[in-house]
Amino acid sequence: MHVSSESIRETFLSFFERNGHLRIDGASVRPRNDPTLLYVNSGMAPLKRYFTGAETPPAKDLCNIQSCIRTKDIDDVGDRHHLTFFEMMGSWSIGNYFKERAVELAFALLTEGFGLKPEQLYVTVFEGDKELGLPADEESARAWERVGMSRDRIVPQPAADNFWGPAGSSGPCGPCTEVFLDTGDAYGPAYVPGGEFDTTRRYIEIWNAGVFMQFDKGLDGTIRPLPFTSVDTGSGLERICLALNGLDSVYQSDLLSPVVNVAQEILGESGTPETRHLVIADHMRAAVKILADGVLPSNEGAGYIPRRLIRKSMTVALRQGADSFQFQPLADTIVDTLKDHHPGLLGRKDAVLAALDAECREFGTAVRRGLDRVSTLIESGGTVSGADAFRLFSTYGLPVEITRDLVAERGAAVSMEEYAAEYERHQRLSRGGERTDRRLRVDDVLPASLSGVPVTEFVGYERTEAEARV
Ligand code: ATP
Ligand code: MG
Ligand code: MG
Ligand code: MG
Repeated sequence: MHVSSESIRETFLSFFERNGHLRIDGASVRPRNDPTLLYVNSGMAPLKRYFTGAETPPAKDLCNIQSCIRTKDIDDVGDRHHLTFFEMMGSWSIGNYFKERAVELAFALLTEGFGLKPEQLYVTVFEGDKELGLPADEESARAWERVGMSRDRIVPQPAADNFWGPAGSSGPCGPCTEVFLDTGDAYGPAYVPGGEFDTTRRYIEIWNAGVFMQFDKGLDGTIRPLPFTSVDTGSGLERICLALNGLDSVYQSDLLSPVVNVAQEILGESGTPETRHLVIADHMRAAVKILADGVLPSNEGAGYIPRRLIRKSMTVALRQGADSFQFQPLADTIVDTLKDHHPGLLGRKDAVLAALDAECREFGTAVRRGLDRVSTLIESGGTVSGADAFRLFSTYGLPVEITRDLVAERGAAVSMEEYAAEYERHQRLSRGGERTDRRLRVDDVLPASLSGVPVTEFVGYERTEAEARV
């Protein structure tokens, strides 16, 4: 029987309400008063000030569903489980209950609430770290055993995966425990205790069932216990759809599949969806959400993200031979799938359509010439330098990620460092030698694989693997 995203939302929130949590609204994807973050990328991000004690929460135990934009995942789109925009169902305990209760609640919801069997699940726990001087998180492991998970399903993992902390800076941190769905032999070999735990295909993370904030990392790197401990959890709505309906990917969920269908229709294609359809569906969904929350496309900072997403979708469509990029049927369907749970979306629809129209008109005239120019560059010399890529951006409005992808198809590469250097040089020149706009962060114009390579001022407050290290 099909389990709808609608019923998953309600099951999650009412479960936590019954267990004493206050249901609160999700925030805009545009962070307020948070210069460290371009977009809200977790349920906890808008609530940070509660965990540091800077502000008092409306209740100690909270739950909600938060829209998240993960720019670092844009290049993963098309795999089984990563979306640029997804909805995170979250629960929190701020200075109230801790590991044991968090694990009890997670297990009860997964099994009794959602009907998953313990045999479908694995959990990971922090294995300890000599360098940090921290022991293994035995408390979480024992809590899982007590509720009925067998030891061979409790997988110890290193700090890189299971210790959450402020990226490169000071603040609350602690071990976490996560729940994975076993999607079966068709997706790779089974985990053998002590062996490798493949979280890219077979085992799909469905819930970060507890980030246990119990330490405070000082500026000098020392780790001390916090005055009060907290629990932060987050579970992807679309991934729970996958789990409960035995889907191959999140794109088959009722939130994504209508959009994927329209992406196929506007390209005049049918049959099994291809990556290009998934990219259009994902990118346009994220763009609509971002525009609805009031960000307009631009060449830098937050506005660069919708620009990149829309232009990529358009490039994909035009390269498939479409005469124009029909964004309206996509936007209609996206709004339809979200409107019941995103108050204000319907009211903002005209503004979203106007922004899409303006962006598509601005780029539409240049894109074909830009694509021709890339082809000529590749065919004449075989390479596209970072400076070439910058000129393609400044002249034709072709985002560097699109140039990079086009060049990669021909087996070559664009130097993103060179591009970033050219970008910065241009910024300095156009500002008459003043320092560059602090809001421009190299990370925002570079793919995840390269972030951290060039100079960057960005210190994110992300919970992605790359930053999970202290
Ligand atoms: P993954 O390892 O699969 O990239 P993550 O460890 O980065 O996930 P968390 O930061 O722990 O994810 O976020 C909590 C939950 O949010 C995850 O357990 C997952 O259910 C969901 N989630 C995270 N990233 C995405 C995404 N890009 N698309 C859809 N759901 C996601
Ligand atoms: Mg995680
Ligand atoms: Mg991730
Ligand atoms: Mg993970």
